[in-house]
Amino acid sequence: MIGQTAPRKQKGVKMRLLGRMVMLALLALANTGPASAQQATPPELALWRLDCGEIVINQYGAFFSDTYQYPAGPKTVVGSCYLIRHGDRYMLWDTGLTDALIGGGFSNAQQTLSLRRSLVDQLREIGVRPEQIEIIGISHWHFDHTGQARHFPQARLLMGAGDLELLRLPSPPDADSAEALAHWLTGDGKVQALTADHDVFGDGRVMLLKTPGHTPGHNALLVRLASGPVLLTGDIYHFTEQVENRGVPPFNHDRADSLASMDRFDRIARNLGARVIIQHEAADVAKLPPFPEAAR
Ligand SMILES: [Zn+2]
Repeated sequence: MIGQTAPRKQKGVKMRLLGRMVMLALLALANTGPASAQQATPPELALWRLDCGEIVINQYGAFFSDTYQYPAGPKTVVGSCYLIRHGDRYMLWDTGLTDALIGGGFSNAQQTLSLRRSLVDQLREIGVRPEQIEIIGISHWHFDHTGQARHFPQARLLMGAGDLELLRLPSPPDADSAEALAHWLTGDGKVQALTADHDVFGDGRVMLLKTPGHTPGHNALLVRLASGPVLLTGDIYHFTEQVENRGVPPFNHDRADSLASMDRFDRIARNLGARVIIQHEAADVAKLPPFPEAAR
């Protein structure tokens, strides 16, 4: 008798499992209806370019090439930041020069920095409040990319782990950047330290691309708009000539990584047929619609 009860129980368990599997299969079938209809219209993506300052580099040649490639003398580059809207979610890409420069500016032997308009002010023009920014992606730790982050303390910071480590050192390489990101570096703000490519919204349409070299934790950004993919360089390149002649600034963290990241970036651009925006190159920033228009 004891011997017979075991198989019967097993049979019962099997029947219940079979029943559950049929239920799951039916549920899966049911889900292909309205759910797949929802998936067919993904959240709309929009991309705004924002003015994040101007930088005059006094010694262009010495500053941007470790092979004596560029002439001496001044060179003007722009600072640019970007707002991405994914459905009703907002992300900032880079936060530019500090808004303490507005109305003043700053000069030293190396460079002159200026800023006309803050990020918060530009967002206001398109009806976006600072507290609506859910995510801040920072390409790298340099001060001209971190300056206005403090206005978005609720946002989750996405940044390369190598760059976060540098800013957390007792003597960080850039005290201004460490101060601008202090809220996140000290553990108050939400931080995601990246060691690989990162899919921001989980649908592959906004990707941080691991591109070390300029700094150890540098990232570029891919935004796959309905009108076509856009690639934002971070500082893999600072201006157009560098794409052709591979000028590597002497202050880059690692020369070999810099060249490898240029190569990877160029291949992605070619393979996707992407619009490349060198963030410090005025001619490239102008490829996107003028603010307050957005690319979609
Ligand atoms: Zn820069």
